[in-house]
Amino acid sequence: MSFQVLGLNPKILQAVTEAGYTEPTPIQTAAIPPIIAGHDLIGIAQTGTGKTAAFTLPMLTKLAAAQAAAGPNRRTRVLILAPTRELVVQIEENIRAYAKHLPLTIATVFGGVGEQPQIRALRSNTDIVVACPGRLLDLLGRRNGDFSGLEFLVLDEADRMLDMGFLPSIRQIVRQLPKQRQTLMFSATLSKEIEGLTHEFQRTPKIVQIGRRANPAETVTQLVYEVPRHLKTSLLIHLLKEPNMDMVLIFSRMKHAADRLARQLEQAGIKTATLHSNRSQNQRLRALQDFKSGHVRVLVATDIAARGIDVDGISHVVNYDFPMHVEDYIHRIGRTGRANAIGDAISFVTNEDHGELRALERFIGRGLVRKKAEGFNYTAAAPPYNPADEERRQPRHQQQRGQRPPRNDQREQRGPQNFPRPSAGPRPPQGGRPQFSSRPQSGGGQRPPPARGEVNGNREGGNERHFPSTAPRSGGFRRRFGAR
Ligand code: AMP
Repeated sequence: MSFQVLGLNPKILQAVTEAGYTEPTPIQTAAIPPIIAGHDLIGIAQTGTGKTAAFTLPMLTKLAAAQAAAGPNRRTRVLILAPTRELVVQIEENIRAYAKHLPLTIATVFGGVGEQPQIRALRSNTDIVVACPGRLLDLLGRRNGDFSGLEFLVLDEADRMLDMGFLPSIRQIVRQLPKQRQTLMFSATLSKEIEGLTHEFQRTPKIVQIGRRANPAETVTQLVYEVPRHLKTSLLIHLLKEPNMDMVLIFSRMKHAADRLARQLEQAGIKTATLHSNRSQNQRLRALQDFKSGHVRVLVATDIAARGIDVDGISHVVNYDFPMHVEDYIHRIGRTGRANAIGDAISFVTNEDHGELRALERFIGRGLVRKKAEGFNYTAAAPPYNPADEERRQPRHQQQRGQRPPRNDQREQRGPQNFPRPSAGPRPPQGGRPQFSSRPQSGGGQRPPPARGEVNGNREGGNERHFPSTAPRSGGFRRRFGAR
């Protein structure tokens, strides 16, 4: 199949060719025609499947066909909502590449950076706005932006936005949009909650679902190292002596623990960068650049800061702290083995982690290989007490708090073993709109305090900075994009 037959605008085809894409991915083949035909759409696809182009290319085609009024009557035509600033910036970069031959303006809106440029962009009614819900709602509440002429609303990674507690903000934003619009929603899974959203925001949407991207749980070599907690850092340093561990992403559950671990690695002579939301925008950008360029070979990250990391060539993912949720495990190990790279995922498992390990093994349907590091002394004594390590001794439930944004709904209680399998197929609509309690509006134009999830989502999820990743990658097209 070629891009030529999908009905795209020639200027967009030119940009696609210049991006080096030779054929559409399965989600693009399935989604582009119905979007051009004017349908609402639910795309069940993970990041990495080419879904950004799947919704962007047809939208741009339609925008180009109906050129908007220039000058003072110009209004924003597309709003794309995404859970993290990293994803927002990644989407923006993609759109800029695909729209480079079109006279369209694009802006991003997300928290943690100065709001003036964003206010200016909203006030000048930029054609395409890509935004995190929290900051956008904040700016809209202060009468910035005119979405009365909106033609497209895209909810990208809708499942993540629900998980991060953005639903109330999304509702308030959507209330300000015209009802006559095309709404496109993308999610990695089709859950009951997502079905609820489609009833609420879409009109008789078409559903497109593609074969999963190669499931990392099936393609990445996964190893478990059982280790006493006090020896985790020594074991890590021991393993990092292996020359083939040349690009290693390490997951820590806590931001401070990530910093401490990075310091310990540096002390052991291992160049290390850290990525978490307490770091400034520039620090995060630098960390990613250093890691990508090979200036440092180790990056220590927290789950949320690492969300959507799209770095080719990661040789190993190390779960220094075992993830609390199966979905985090799948997401973490999916950072390696991308684009046909061969990658290993290593998990440190302490006595406390056995429950989570069992849940994971049930979920992926097999046991993971246990490995012992050769030449490592597993009976070494604990290092002397160091008050700086105090947080390490906190009970688990306290550690978890503050690091992971709360889930907004039943999923919170559901537990990892019940998390829907990534391969779960679409379920028929359940019918009936879900009942949601709406938050009361306080008077005097005051915004009600944000829900816990919104604040967390904004802070932790919203603080990551992106790194360019739009360059097409070579080889492995079929395997990467799930073509059969
Ligand atoms: P996404 O799922 O949108 O995050 O896309 C994942 C990666 O696939 C991005 O780096 C895109 O540049 C790339 N990509 C998207 N469409 C194609 C295509 N048709 N051929 C090759 N690469 C693509």
